[in-house]
Amino acid sequence: MKVPLIDVKAQNAPLAEELGEAFARVRDSGWYILGPELDEFESAMARRLGVKHVVGVSSGTDALLLAFMALDLGPGDEVLCPAFTFFATAGCVARTGATPVFTDVCPVCFNMDSDSARERVTPQTRAMVPVHLFGQSADMDSLQKVAGDHGLAVVEDAAQAIGARYKGTACGAIGQFGAFSFFPTKNLGGFGDAGMLATNDDDLAERARILRVHGMNPKYYHPEIGANFRMDALQAALLGVKASRLDHYNQCRAENAAYYTEQLSGLPGVATADEKDCCCPERREAGGGDVPRLILPVAYGHNDHCWNQYTLRVTGDGQREALRAHLAAAGVGCEVYYPMPLHHQACFRDLPERARGSLPVSERLAGEVLSIPIFPELTRGQQDLVIAGIRSFLD
Ligand SMILES: *Cc1c(COP(=O)(O)O)cnc(C)c1O
Repeated sequence: MKVPLIDVKAQNAPLAEELGEAFARVRDSGWYILGPELDEFESAMARRLGVKHVVGVSSGTDALLLAFMALDLGPGDEVLCPAFTFFATAGCVARTGATPVFTDVCPVCFNMDSDSARERVTPQTRAMVPVHLFGQSADMDSLQKVAGDHGLAVVEDAAQAIGARYKGTACGAIGQFGAFSFFPTKNLGGFGDAGMLATNDDDLAERARILRVHGMNPKYYHPEIGANFRMDALQAALLGVKASRLDHYNQCRAENAAYYTEQLSGLPGVATADEKDCCCPERREAGGGDVPRLILPVAYGHNDHCWNQYTLRVTGDGQREALRAHLAAAGVGCEVYYPMPLHHQACFRDLPERARGSLPVSERLAGEVLSIPIFPELTRGQQDLVIAGIRSFLD
């Protein structure tokens, strides 16, 4: 038996009939871009998130770019981004002409560290982009405090966090904008590229809708320059079918995560990351305790984690690569999200030193993280194989 890292086809078979109906409806409507299918999807997502507005767009990346454009970010502006995230978070900042300024992250939850963010604020800082990496909310209260103290806009990169909550509020519904992705491997995966923006601000929503269609308002008159960020009707219709099952998918992911944690936490050399009793090696080393070989991810008590990834930390030189190879040999798919922190990416080499100075936690995580299969349709038998692979590695 092989265990893939993810099987994006698995959830479609039981939905085949409904997906077929949605496809036929769009096919026969003759309305293929934006339109009533998207209006309906946007309303359903707005209700689900508890926000006033949802704007469906062409991808998660475009959702971020559109948010930054709607906030008028541009040359001379600085935007705080975590260094440990997918490239798009910072790539979109740079695309507006603004400067991404990288912050370090928390070794327990992997998200933007508010102290690091505060240290990097300058008079040019206009916004911050907390990412809810792997499906767990960033520490929004502390980050919002930094933003409030310095008048920064907050754009949440919730691409991996649809269905996640922070203290009861949906991730992506807290800042000025929340950006979501429907890339096929995300918790709500589409049949191609798509994304959306969420906001409670009427003016920003209106601005984003206009910029989504080339800054056109009214038709063929362009008070400003936007782009084509439109979402297909077909994506909206198909995603609508899957969206009604999202809570179930997320529940399955949470059960899979709980099973891993239960089965792995008793193994020798394994520790669970803990909010109050941080077991990251730097603390253990300082305290003189044993450094765990494997650190399991943890969901903070105030968060509803939606488990887009179950990400281990494998400590010790070369150990992450060794575990990866060991699991691959056992037929278990795994992946490194992400091997290089953004402040070390070649494309950012010309940023000022202040924007990309040393960020020790991000650098360490990039060398230690390994994500193992967590997708909703993963079976217990498959999980047992992953667990057996990890156990034999530790032996
Ligand atoms: C997937 C992802 C994006 C980009 O979404 P696309 O739909 O692939 O463009 C942005 N940020 C993060 C953190 C992501 O995981």
